[in-house]
Amino acid sequence: MQKIEGKSVFGGIAIGKIRFYSREDRQVVRRHVKDINEELERFDKAKTEAMCQLQILHEKAVREVGDGAAEIFEVHQKVIKDRDYINSITHMIEAEKINSEYAVACTSDNFSQMFEAMDDDYMRARAADIRDVSNRIIDILHGKSGLKMTGSEPVIIVADELVPSETIQLDKNKVLSFVTNKGSVNSHTSILARTMNIPALTGILASKDFDGKTAIVDGYKGCIYIEPDEVTFTEYEEKKKNDAEKRKLLEELKGKPAVTIDGKQIMLYANIGSVMDVMSALQNDAGGIGLFRSEFLYMESIDYPTEEEQFNIYKTVARNMAGKRVIIRTLDIGADKQADYFHLEQEDNPAMGYRAIRICLDRTDIFKTQLKAIYRASAFGKIAVMFPMIISVDEVRRIKKIVEEVKEELKNNMVMYGEVELGIMIETPAAVMISDLLAKEVDFFSIGTNDLTQYTLAIDRQNSRLDNIYDAHHEAVMRMIKMTVENGHKEGCFVGICGELAADTTLTETFLRMGIDELSVSPGMLLNVKNEIRKVDLSK
Ligand code: PEP
Ligand code: MG
Repeated sequence: MQKIEGKSVFGGIAIGKIRFYSREDRQVVRRHVKDINEELERFDKAKTEAMCQLQILHEKAVREVGDGAAEIFEVHQKVIKDRDYINSITHMIEAEKINSEYAVACTSDNFSQMFEAMDDDYMRARAADIRDVSNRIIDILHGKSGLKMTGSEPVIIVADELVPSETIQLDKNKVLSFVTNKGSVNSHTSILARTMNIPALTGILASKDFDGKTAIVDGYKGCIYIEPDEVTFTEYEEKKKNDAEKRKLLEELKGKPAVTIDGKQIMLYANIGSVMDVMSALQNDAGGIGLFRSEFLYMESIDYPTEEEQFNIYKTVARNMAGKRVIIRTLDIGADKQADYFHLEQEDNPAMGYRAIRICLDRTDIFKTQLKAIYRASAFGKIAVMFPMIISVDEVRRIKKIVEEVKEELKNNMVMYGEVELGIMIETPAAVMISDLLAKEVDFFSIGTNDLTQYTLAIDRQNSRLDNIYDAHHEAVMRMIKMTVENGHKEGCFVGICGELAADTTLTETFLRMGIDELSVSPGMLLNVKNEIRKVDLSK
């Protein structure tokens, strides 16, 4: 048995087999091949495998996000069937006697450049499809399966590092736990693990040899046991049983209101990143959705999601929440949340860089597409929208002007939409300091304590070396929250917290005493927070 200690990202116990994930780059080298027929056969097999993968992805997407979003995989299958594309590859293999990977990479470059040079927007967008399909074939030729879950048994994912776009592609039913070497406890991959309600660790130096071995992850203590001995195994099976019993007790809170002893009703909402999370939000009694991280839809896609695709997703969430408030946060891309097709430049200081509302106010085409989808979905439920990374009143006024334009367009096209409350995230010290002015512009505030802590304490939330001093309980952060609540209330705004701190039950009473109206937490934490709320007596 080997015990490795790291840092806990989320509590819980997982017992299962390890699946080691390694991300190698897609470097393609030109090689001379002796047997052309053998090489053509190799390419043909990779092509067939790619078609199979795309078929599986298509079926999964139809099930999970609907026909619209699934269409992209059909488009990719068409690329593989395209005669010009295939002829170009096979011709290169034959004429130049080179390896398939190189022929695919060259063809991909030639074809995508050709599409990029076209006038038509639709055709230009196809360049990304060609690159994506080609990368898939190259991965297969390299013998890489990517982070695709193939077996039927759920596994413990062990990796050097997982970025959010890799995490988001996982089949949630097949992951017992995440264990990584790199990554901070405040990163978005960590947040995803909490949303999935599974134990997770970071700071664990992992090795490829772990693949297939049995392990126990202790998310409370922050350690992993590889090939545990009998005694440890039995001890942890017992701990897992105890966890399940505690959970059962919490389950008794289902159906009971999130109300303090003296009768103050708290809006206890859930944070979600996809339609799939709505189920666990509802199962855990969410009073609404306090933060729908819409950027995850963008990160799951291989191209900009269309208005129709987004509309279907927002509508599904609104419908499933059946009249309960759904707060959709507009695209918060950038920093650690990346999607290739945005082609964002590398920055020296991405957390303070070109991200979130800064991109949306620049690329209003993307912003308007999303707003139209949100407004259209508002005809099917109680939708609110909020904007990330706000630092000025001017930004909010520019946003509101764009919102008015979107509404006008919908009206002119006779498209129905409902009343949509407008809110902003308070996650920069600037927004806190002018929260009195910002409150006059909007209906609600939602405090993003993850970024607010990062910017207030000048500590990069991605830097795992600073995890020990990233102190969200810092007096400066507490005062900022208090100030935001007071300023918001003066102008009639409701004020919530949607950062990870909202789930910190040691602070529930403090927040309620500050006057917080809403707490939005990962679905798995809803009942724990409800339990705490029901113990508070604000009259004392
Ligand atoms: C936050 O910053 O607290 C927040 C909720 O947003 P994110 O974690 O997605 O940046
Ligand atoms: Mg944030």
